[in-house]
Amino acid sequence: MTEHITTVAGVAVDTRHWIGGERVASVETFTDVSPIDASTLGEISRGTATEAAAAVAAARAAFPAWAATSRAERARILHAIADGVDKRIEDLANVETLDNGALLRSHRRGVMPRVAHNFRFFADWLLKLEHEAFTTHTSGSAAGRGHTNHVSWDPAGPCVLITPWNAPLMLATWKVAPALAAGNTVILKPAEWSPLTASLLADIAAEAGLPAGVLNVVQGYGAEVGNSLVSHPDVRRISFTGSVPTAQHIARAAAANLTPLSLELGGKSPLLVFADADLDLAVDLAVEQYDNAGQVCLAATRLLVEETVSDEFTRRFVEKATRLRQGDPRDEATDLGPNIHPRQLEKIDGIVRRALEDGARAVIGGERKDGLYYEPTLLTDVAQDSEIVQEEIFGPVLTLQTFGDEEEAVRLANDTRFGLAATLVTGDHERAERVTARLVAGTVWVNCFFVRDLRAPFGGSRHSGVGREGGTWSFDFYCDVKNTVTAPNGWHNHG
Ligand code: NAD
Repeated sequence: MTEHITTVAGVAVDTRHWIGGERVASVETFTDVSPIDASTLGEISRGTATEAAAAVAAARAAFPAWAATSRAERARILHAIADGVDKRIEDLANVETLDNGALLRSHRRGVMPRVAHNFRFFADWLLKLEHEAFTTHTSGSAAGRGHTNHVSWDPAGPCVLITPWNAPLMLATWKVAPALAAGNTVILKPAEWSPLTASLLADIAAEAGLPAGVLNVVQGYGAEVGNSLVSHPDVRRISFTGSVPTAQHIARAAAANLTPLSLELGGKSPLLVFADADLDLAVDLAVEQYDNAGQVCLAATRLLVEETVSDEFTRRFVEKATRLRQGDPRDEATDLGPNIHPRQLEKIDGIVRRALEDGARAVIGGERKDGLYYEPTLLTDVAQDSEIVQEEIFGPVLTLQTFGDEEEAVRLANDTRFGLAATLVTGDHERAERVTARLVAGTVWVNCFFVRDLRAPFGGSRHSGVGREGGTWSFDFYCDVKNTVTAPNGWHNHG
């Protein structure tokens, strides 16, 4: 082991930043710890305003050439990155699991293949990105008749991408891939609790032939290097996934430069179960909300069940949920790994304790276990305006409330400050349409959950976010969209 390389699950990971095609160390470091067993994974470079400025300068210098690179060539390099990810799926999965404690089997078979797909998808989307030209037939002035309008997507410049720890490489590459495809250069700042796979991505991108400075990775704390990045006047876009308070901070910093923002934030999403639902399906979908130990922004943590079926639903839910296995996330048989950090566990436990003191009843769970594990928990007898119903917990904690009719279901579903997603389970197609139309949510799943097609818009309403990403929406955000209006016979003077 050299000074700046740490070996994690047998994989060599560089602990320094990646700036302008070179590894750069900071004077200070921070310790990266595994949530599985509190072992030290590495001493990671702790970026400051100096590294932030260097990364933005590198991204700025690399921008003109990358923006001028043909779409075909950009797409070819993104495909090469996807191939590089595919070759290293085992490495990435093993490192990510040690770093953030999520299941190895899902990293191996679900998440990392999707990371490769993110690059392929946006490379291919770039190649067919087109807006049909149209002709202006009516206008206030006669001169407006017969003019053609042509829409194009111009690369915007250096983009700062800031991401959380709950699905580190997956969420980072939802941003990195479209930002690069669009012809932008990137400064990625991964979360300090899970910094490692971003460093491996830098290696993979360099091996794939991405020119120096096009992708930069800066490590460190949000309040330090993160703050310097989002405050930098040369940054043309900021895309952030994380919590509401951080988003508010970033929005204030970005306001000084009017830097356009995309914010993917938290949620408190409902799962509505109507009496006409397939109850087994409803229970399967409800138990799925414990995935990733509840650390999923989209998780439907509020179960809203029609009164007439709530006893039967609860009985079947308990039967299934109590069979979940908690343990080492590297074990194939494990369903729930640890939560990420002692601070997070404190937060989860604090919210549950206060709810119990206020009269909530734990149907299952409600206790911490050894290490960073928290029992899968279901609480009932909770008030709509209570903290446990209103605030995002980000742990394996669900609440169950009942409703009498559709009207009440919709009212409860919409009654938080969030609007990220909603899931409804019903056998009635017309009901699904009626209810969906009234739900405030960026994504509604009907009789399913967590299906994410990259062509679709993704984002949240209210405090769950600003803007949408996915397919053309990503290019709209990462580009300066331009409309060129050409006169019908504008060329006759020029021979
Ligand atoms: P967080 O807001 O604490 O941190 C997210 C990132 O922001 C980290 O990289 C952090 O270093 C950085 N950061 C912190 N302060 C900063 C500052 N002042 N300036 C710039 N950067 C700063 O969030 P978290 O705890 O890492 O993630 C959990 C949150 O993310 C939850 O609220 C969850 O719902 C949300 N999330 C949302 C989505 C989505 O797509 N909507 C997906 C996953 C997670």
